[in-house]
Amino acid sequence: MAYNKSIKAFDEAYAVIPGGVDSPVRAFSGVVGTPPFISHGEGGYLFDIDGNQYIDFVQSWGPLIFGHCDKDIEYSVIQAVKRGLSFGAPTTIETDLANEIVSLFDSIDKVRFVSSGTEAVMSAIRLARGVTGRDNIVKFKGCYHGHSDSLLVEAGSGLATFGTPSSPGVPADLTKHTLLATYNDLASVEQCFADAKGNIACVIIEPIAGNMGLVPADEAFLVGIRALCDIHGALLIFDEVMSGFRASLKGAQGISSVKPDILTLGKVIGAGMPVGAFGASATIMSHLSPEGPVYQAGTLSGNPVAMAAGLTSLKKLKANPSLYVEFASKAKKLVDGFQKASLAVGVPMVTEVRGSMFGFFFSDVVVKNMEQADANDTQMFAQFHKGMLDKGVYLACSSYETGFICAKTSDKMIDNAIKAAYQTMREITA
Ligand SMILES: *Cc1c(COP(=O)(O)O)cnc(C)c1O
Repeated sequence: MAYNKSIKAFDEAYAVIPGGVDSPVRAFSGVVGTPPFISHGEGGYLFDIDGNQYIDFVQSWGPLIFGHCDKDIEYSVIQAVKRGLSFGAPTTIETDLANEIVSLFDSIDKVRFVSSGTEAVMSAIRLARGVTGRDNIVKFKGCYHGHSDSLLVEAGSGLATFGTPSSPGVPADLTKHTLLATYNDLASVEQCFADAKGNIACVIIEPIAGNMGLVPADEAFLVGIRALCDIHGALLIFDEVMSGFRASLKGAQGISSVKPDILTLGKVIGAGMPVGAFGASATIMSHLSPEGPVYQAGTLSGNPVAMAAGLTSLKKLKANPSLYVEFASKAKKLVDGFQKASLAVGVPMVTEVRGSMFGFFFSDVVVKNMEQADANDTQMFAQFHKGMLDKGVYLACSSYETGFICAKTSDKMIDNAIKAAYQTMREITA
């Protein structure tokens, strides 16, 4: 495949945008080559400015569960645009989308809309701190919750589990309240509670982690965290910005029996428009401004165009629950095919599927946490990614990401992607 126009576009972008991208994951830093610049999408396909066509397994990193240019979503967005882009005043469509969401999750009575997942999680943490009157929070190594200060944390040195900033520009004073635990390891969470003498505002977790590759939490682990939170009066936050409406219609809560106190959503609820949301019981949400003292606001929050996209998307999902069976069977077929292609040339691979989410690691250990994810063969992944891209298969450009099936991903696309995987694995091991 030729990428001449994209290479030129990347150079031009590089001159005026840091790294040439507006979000670092797009930069192809962990793989070979430069990112294709996109011209347009169509259903399950993506087209770049050189005219190359790709089967899209990234789907804007999750939001596009109906693929590109879905006619119903497109129509509702255009109708909304014609009424005006933003009013900074209440509209009934916010209530409509809130009702759709609240009716799906037993755990929440009320929801507030924001403009990104980062904002949703940041606000949820503030709410948890405001409700409990405590500062400390527990997060898991390998879980991503957006780029706000107190969540950009890596393991602290020495005895303590208290975190240190993982980015310059984040004051250590802010991250010292973030304790780090190990995913799927309940003892590490108990240790955090012990270290903080029970003084924890909340535990935040991706109940189906999608940001260290696809790594679901064990049910017993989630049950254990729920119990610890209840014993110590801490709130449990499920960050389902990615897994919401992806792992099942109810996200992880359609699979696990554990209910969070606060839920964060994003990605699919905007169907490609910028939307995030956080919700909880009426009691917890009553602490939020203007009902309560915990401040949170946004000029474009509940934007009517974004709400229209989300509402149409959620209504379509609700009306077609069998979609999730289809998603899972396609995802399973795809990763089984990848795994066979890999094993055929003697390279180990482990795979995972949750609804429309799929993951694979070049590794021979079943991945349960970040340390095990780190043991994957990133060199092999980089070569695999390049080979697949050259054959028209667009995969996330990092082995720590999750892949997605959408309603427009056809059996033929799956078969073609598997064929490309066999060919790629033969090439890179020849
Ligand atoms: C993507 C993501 C976020 C951040 O959402 P943005 O819209 O990128 O700010 C937060 N949490 C999880 C689990 C995510 O996958």
